[in-house]
Amino acid sequence: MNLILMGAPGAGKGTHAKDISKQFSIPHISTGDILREEVAKGSELGKTAKSYMDEGKLLPDDIIIEIIKGRLQEDDCKNGYLFDGFPRTLVQAQKLDTISRIESVIYLKCDDDILIKRLTGRRIAEDGRIYNIYFDPPPEGIKTYQRDDDNEETIRERLRIFYDTFTPIMEFYKKKNNFHEIRGDEDRTVVYENILSILKNIQKGR
Ligand code: AMP
Repeated sequence: MNLILMGAPGAGKGTHAKDISKQFSIPHISTGDILREEVAKGSELGKTAKSYMDEGKLLPDDIIIEIIKGRLQEDDCKNGYLFDGFPRTLVQAQKLDTISRIESVIYLKCDDDILIKRLTGRRIAEDGRIYNIYFDPPPEGIKTYQRDDDNEETIRERLRIFYDTFTPIMEFYKKKNNFHEIRGDEDRTVVYENILSILKNIQKGR
């Protein structure tokens, strides 16, 4: 299954992507995670990425496409994959269309006030588990960190860019009849059930 999970920053893409990836045994490909790894390594790509990420801006499409092309060559992508945070522009979606057949795009729709609380409150533990100081605080003794770009100014810029770029991508996939919209601000288990029912329908329809 080749899937895309879409949503504004904070919509819960990363959280649900991890569960889908485990349940369907397909890799979770997050361009944001790949870029953060490069930043942590201090590579040339990481240095370039950091300057964009710190301002909440998108990296140039050609850099992202090269990353994706390389990633899709890896063995674990043979039975499908799940994109999170990609494609972020219409050009990325069009380029992706030439190298992959996407079966379903699931959009997690959320209101902005929830997104801002989720992002400003997001804390990440060393094992990657995501907590939130407002909704799901980390247990005492668990060390967490905050993403550099989860500050209010950068969050507003990331949301602005998301809404600017989202509509043409949505129209692109709506024309292909594989776009599904669900609420991303319901209870986590309800959201996941809704995702599963879409994915099970895809499997049935094959
Ligand atoms: P994310 O973890 O998906 O919120 O991404 C964090 C940051 O990485 C974004 O604000 C962008 O600076 C960069 N980024 C991630 N994915 C992409 C993409 N597909 N295209 C351009 N920039 C991206």
